[in-house]
Amino acid sequence: MIVMKFGGSSVESAEAIARVASIVNSRRERNPIVVVSAMGKTTNRLLAMADEAASGNRDRALELCEELKQYHLQEADGHPAIEFHFQELTEILRGLSILGELTPRSIDAISSFGERLSSLVVAKALNAVHVDSRQYIITDNRHTQALPRFDLTYERLKTLPEGEVIVMGGFIGSTEDGVTTTLGRGGSDYSASIIGAGVEAEEIQIWTDVDGMLTADPRVHPGGHRVKAISFAEAAELAYFGAKVLHPATVVPAIEKNIPVVILNSRRPEVDGTRITSEGVSGQNIVKSIACKTGITVVNIRSTRMLMAHGFLRRIFEVFDKYETPVDMVSTSEVSVSLTIDNPKNLDAIVSELQQFAGVEAVPGQAIVCLVGDRIRSTPGVAHSAFRALNGINVRMISQGASKLNLSVVISENDLPSAVASLHTEFFTTLDPAVFG
Ligand code: ASP
Repeated sequence: MIVMKFGGSSVESAEAIARVASIVNSRRERNPIVVVSAMGKTTNRLLAMADEAASGNRDRALELCEELKQYHLQEADGHPAIEFHFQELTEILRGLSILGELTPRSIDAISSFGERLSSLVVAKALNAVHVDSRQYIITDNRHTQALPRFDLTYERLKTLPEGEVIVMGGFIGSTEDGVTTTLGRGGSDYSASIIGAGVEAEEIQIWTDVDGMLTADPRVHPGGHRVKAISFAEAAELAYFGAKVLHPATVVPAIEKNIPVVILNSRRPEVDGTRITSEGVSGQNIVKSIACKTGITVVNIRSTRMLMAHGFLRRIFEVFDKYETPVDMVSTSEVSVSLTIDNPKNLDAIVSELQQFAGVEAVPGQAIVCLVGDRIRSTPGVAHSAFRALNGINVRMISQGASKLNLSVVISENDLPSAVASLHTEFFTTLDPAVFG
């Protein structure tokens, strides 16, 4: 059995759905369970109409609803379920506009329509069995961010019909009492991973619109190579640093059951994609990929009071915690701390609070460049090669992370393209064919 998950752009039109059908049909002998996202940008559109309704703009909400219905009718070949789903949605929107409030529970009720519809549409196109995910993915009641109750969910998933192609919606679930919930934005990958773990699939395939993970971010450095095999730990490091392909938290259920996750391209199904396994494949190259993240602000905090004192770092991090601002990279010396954040929303407040006990300087417009590869930890001279490649570029911070799978530096955003280009030349001039495509 395999799980095949298709994202919104893979099911955005009749044409895209036909492509999905041919991909699934050619793998029928592996007993696929197909997990789909809502069609195209449907979830955004549903949330927009919910907002309009709750703000009292009933007519605007109903107009957006009608547009979304027309889109579904057009791309889904007039599927009979569309009419009554939109009738129900319309009633909810009318109710919201009277109540004038939007609770997390009603947000879930509305945003669930995307996957409820797309799964019906794709099941019909595939001539497959449709199952309602809400009867299988059982969650707590933290609406819009629900957490699966794995014991109940795995028990139910064991009862899925066997020997047939199954289609189910990602993202959605329900509480034990049957109230609709969702797993959070982008949650369909998580659904695929939960379902794969629950049925103990031989493989979980995440079908996207890219060929898989690359040796460099194509927006910064075109001409990277496909990474064919990577470990979960390496993939997680890449994901933290902005590789948008897969969120690491989503693959946890798969890791726990040691099920490979494969990233594939629904527009180019002949490409093998990227295979993520617990072991990975080491290969000859020291680095697997260069990830980067722009829009970084470096915060430099300096105080002589830090010398020989304790509790200083705690005070600093309490400020970031208070303003719910995640910190990505940290480096410390005896009298100063530098750290990076990627969300400057509360920067002014953070800075003024820190200034009560330290000198503070915030430097926007920075980028993190992160070399990832499990051989970094055991190979002498990686830093030498990296800094030789970065010759002439001002490096503001350096970190060889706790995982030892990565070596990261902070540089100015302006230097990013040239830095990635020369690091790419340094580490990927010869490629191990076992790891790179
Ligand atoms: N449709 C949901 C979203 O847009 C879930 C997903 O596509 O993964 O967030």
